[in-house]
Amino acid sequence: MARLEIKNLHAKVNEDGGEKILNGVDLEVASGEIHALMGPNGSGKSTTAKVIAGHPAYEVTDGEVLIHLDDDEFEDIEITEDDQTWDILDLEPNERAALGVFLGFQYPAEIEGVTMVNFLRTALNAKLEEREELFEDDEETEAEAEEDDAGYETSPMEGEADEGEIGVAEFQQLLKEKMEQLEMDETFAQRYLNAGFSGGEKKQNEVLQAAILEPSIAVLDEIDSGLDIDRLQDVSTGINALRDEQNAGILQITHYQRILDYVEPDHVHIMLDGKVAMSGDSELAVKLEENGYDWVREEVYETA
Ligand code: ADP
Ligand code: MG
Ligand code: MG
Repeated sequence: MARLEIKNLHAKVNEDGGEKILNGVDLEVASGEIHALMGPNGSGKSTTAKVIAGHPAYEVTDGEVLIHLDDDEFEDIEITEDDQTWDILDLEPNERAALGVFLGFQYPAEIEGVTMVNFLRTALNAKLEEREELFEDDEETEAEAEEDDAGYETSPMEGEADEGEIGVAEFQQLLKEKMEQLEMDETFAQRYLNAGFSGGEKKQNEVLQAAILEPSIAVLDEIDSGLDIDRLQDVSTGINALRDEQNAGILQITHYQRILDYVEPDHVHIMLDGKVAMSGDSELAVKLEENGYDWVREEVYETA
């Protein structure tokens, strides 16, 4: 089990006199749960996701973003009590990823000559290496440190597996399994990274990346925007698989109720003016679809 706990998060645009955008966000997402984060344009949904990711455009002025991990969260590492809670705001973006937090919009730009399969294997190995470093005994011997450093000399794109890395053949098998789970076309992995990908294919790529990296908690920002109905169903199949097959917790940011017909949320939260103003179950999303956001604003500010 893992749990992402956003506590009283305040953030502003990272420049002198930058606008205050988040005004005390509180939100918790645990393994196996699907949460929808909704709200009108400009309410701070994407900023919340970007702050969780460590985007440099924002400065956190208060609050914390904690990840809590059970001792057996990772198959290959036993997590001691001291290492079970991290404030990810203190960590680099790649360290956040190594702790199992996946941010969906971090899909890469087009990189010439890199296939999906190579990119994904590199990303997975980088994550595993980073994770090992995070949980390594602090009393690492000098010899071990040197050995680690030597490992960096091999380019991760070269296809030779270092010790502890997932090699080409093993990765091909893993990828095949994941693509079957996601009901994705096999030819997809042989394509060059994002080259000529349609909007829908980029979104599917994002879900595949999440399936490979096996995050504890995945934050997906508007993964439904601009998708036709077939792609929406494909992407939804993938998101449901992340939860059902990997027990990932999902924070699904969306402006529209439509995707929630396919990915049914256990909890729905509404952001207004940089805060989570109201939470409920999936009925709340239906009510929003019918009545818009005005009544939420009225209710929240009347009782305040
Ligand atoms: P949402 O995703 O809910 O539509 P955002 O988090 O993208 O909203 O934006 C919230 C508000 O903060 C908007 O008014 C937006 O213009 C502003 N904002 C977000 N990022 C920046 C930025 N880097 N610089 C200036 N203003 C920003
Ligand atoms: Mg947004
Ligand atoms: Mg801190």
